[in-house]
Amino acid sequence: MKTIGLIGGMSWESSDLYYQIINRKVQATLGGVHSCNCLMYSVDFAEIADLQHQGQWDLLSKKMVSVAQKLELAGADLIVLCTNTMHKVAVDIENNIHIPFLHIVDATAEEIQKKSYRKLGLLATRFSMEEDFLKSRYKSKYNMETIVPDEADRKDVHRIIYEELVKGIITAESKQRYLEIIDKLVQNGAEAIISGCTEIELLIKPGDIRVDLFQTTKIHAEKAVELALQQGEVPSASKKNI
Ligand code: GLU
Repeated sequence: MKTIGLIGGMSWESSDLYYQIINRKVQATLGGVHSCNCLMYSVDFAEIADLQHQGQWDLLSKKMVSVAQKLELAGADLIVLCTNTMHKVAVDIENNIHIPFLHIVDATAEEIQKKSYRKLGLLATRFSMEEDFLKSRYKSKYNMETIVPDEADRKDVHRIIYEELVKGIITAESKQRYLEIIDKLVQNGAEAIISGCTEIELLIKPGDIRVDLFQTTKIHAEKAVELALQQGEVPSASKKNI
């Protein structure tokens, strides 16, 4: 089994999910008391969230690259960045490590492709919903269109992530609000929904909605395990990007 290097802490509530999912998947696959070989470097999310909201992406990029390099030095065989939003600096990470980087969009889009969906509703932080770094990859690499909520709804989706979900606060009121927003996306033509923020699956479960839900944390974590359990080198077209 290879060693998965996890860049975590954004937030630790979702990193906790990653840790559970990868260990359960290894145990289910290998049986017995098997668990995952992994390393997690967990950052202080307060610093990260402040820098995000100040628009200090150069500094954030340097921090993410430095953490990825530490994981590589410590023996990781592949890197998993446990947040959608910080994939804004994914290219910088890929360009500064010598081991493969499992992009969250690639893992998710491969699952969506199995159902042949072409138009997806994207719920995420406002960085991910309003900027192009995830949406353009879904489009250019997988020909998938992502639609996002209107401005007032995006504001609520973002607020609930940063004021509640990253602190582990789950309320019926916020769940109801998300369900209303999902309904509107479906009315606007979304064939399925991407929970494109790694904490959203704490609030919304697949059975809560009438269309398919693609949970980026679960999909990303399980794909990492598949790669870790494959024989030989982690496969990749470019070696760095899988
Ligand atoms: N975990 C979240 C995401 O997947 C938001 C926190 C962050 O900004 O990293 O986008």
